[in-house]
Amino acid sequence: MRRLLVIITIAMLVSLIAVAYAQTNQVYFKFEISSRQELVSLTRIISIDNVKDKTVYAYANDKQFDYFKTLGYDYTILPSPSSLISPRMADSREAILEWDSYPTYGEYVSMMQRFESDYPGLCIIENIGYSVEGREILFAKLSANVNIEENEPEVMYSSTMHGDETTGYVLMLRLIDYLLSNYGTDPQITNILDSMEVWINPLANPDGTYHGGDNTVEDAIRFNANGVDLNRNFPDPDEGPHPDGNDWQPETIAMMNFFNRHSFVISANFHGGAEVVNYPWDTWPQRHADDAWFIQISREYADSAQTNSPPGYMTDLNNGITNGWDWYTIAGGRQDYLNFWKGCREVTIELSHIKLLPPEQLPDYWDYNRAAFLTYWEQAYYGIKGLVTDASTGLPIAATISVIDHDIDSSEVYTDPDVGDYHRMIEPGTYDLRFTSPGYIPLTVYGVTAIFRNATVVDVQLQPVPDEPMLEFYAHDAGVVNAGDTVSMSITLINNGGGNAYDVNAVSYTHLTLPTN
Ligand code: ZN
Repeated sequence: MRRLLVIITIAMLVSLIAVAYAQTNQVYFKFEISSRQELVSLTRIISIDNVKDKTVYAYANDKQFDYFKTLGYDYTILPSPSSLISPRMADSREAILEWDSYPTYGEYVSMMQRFESDYPGLCIIENIGYSVEGREILFAKLSANVNIEENEPEVMYSSTMHGDETTGYVLMLRLIDYLLSNYGTDPQITNILDSMEVWINPLANPDGTYHGGDNTVEDAIRFNANGVDLNRNFPDPDEGPHPDGNDWQPETIAMMNFFNRHSFVISANFHGGAEVVNYPWDTWPQRHADDAWFIQISREYADSAQTNSPPGYMTDLNNGITNGWDWYTIAGGRQDYLNFWKGCREVTIELSHIKLLPPEQLPDYWDYNRAAFLTYWEQAYYGIKGLVTDASTGLPIAATISVIDHDIDSSEVYTDPDVGDYHRMIEPGTYDLRFTSPGYIPLTVYGVTAIFRNATVVDVQLQPVPDEPMLEFYAHDAGVVNAGDTVSMSITLINNGGGNAYDVNAVSYTHLTLPTN
């Protein structure tokens, strides 16, 4: 009987372990590479988390790990980062307001709702969608006159799309509380909420964080409930719409729809496992048009964090900053997606070496980053900005603003079509700006000077194209031509009566009247 009991107990334990493993569907491991070139293909197979010299730290779901094992690397399985501590959890308002514990999922949702009910003129909580398991993906919108669209830059923070990287989750909740409770008394915060529209999403992957159940963040996982790395699941400038081979996950679709409804100017995506500001691009080696500007704002963030912390914090890679590709390449990241398609400047900020930070340490990390959180958004004040409106009606226009001989790889920015405002942060210099919008005559403004820590305002009115078709330019490929010669021409009509530009290629004319001089 006793032996039977023992056998039953062992069988139960084995099955419990098996269930836990199957549910996790996540392996954390490390291995050595001989050349960094191997990362280019490995990053498409597994979810690389960090690279230190030639040691790669990575996650894989079961399918990815099976494939990885066929590649012949010697690997070491590591304990899941979230299994190393039993974090203190808070299930009441009083407990969480000490900011040294993690909220239960229920407390998180009620906290967000309380921000709105406690500060109705300053805060709106928006549910942008649901996770695979039906948890809420929530943003707090913070601004004076929060119910009105104004000529303000929209700025955004989002954290913990890797569910086991929880430092930013609590720091974002604390940031919301800090902004709301200091509005009207702290001049810097008052100015931010008076002149910006702030959006904060503390938890982008709730299923990953609460993988161990709604009442604990222990056993949090990197992936979502389908075993997908959400920061590899976005369309990629280099690899196309599905770089990871997976369908867009509900969490990804919710984010993409949300970005389509907004016009974010600057944002950051908070992670853990390192201490560094990672700037674009992640997917390819060429530099962003605004590389110098990205280096400067990343440097400012890291410098601020270093100033407010003990020696050694936020000093990974190039003393706390790195180009994404230079560290290790990924495809399908949210940073490159927002930069390439949405005209938004996003960086990825790794807040703590320990992914699931013991909650007693959260107040320290708040102190390290509090000032940098605010000054990072303030970058949106600077550069070139203004309003683009219709010259005949005065109404706002959805326009593209290109910096001539500067913008590359979709680094153009767009107006917020609701108000017509644009915000082109750029390193100091003198630039020519081109404003275009379907149905309007393009306009170029020459010699606009951007000054360090200043805003240059360039408001522009675009003329609607007349109803008659109009030649914007013409070009011929015939070299020197004589009257009567046949030449092939390319004509661009900027209006076809319906307002859209289109091209007519290779039209032949046999009788041309050439200018006499
Ligand atoms: Zn991460």
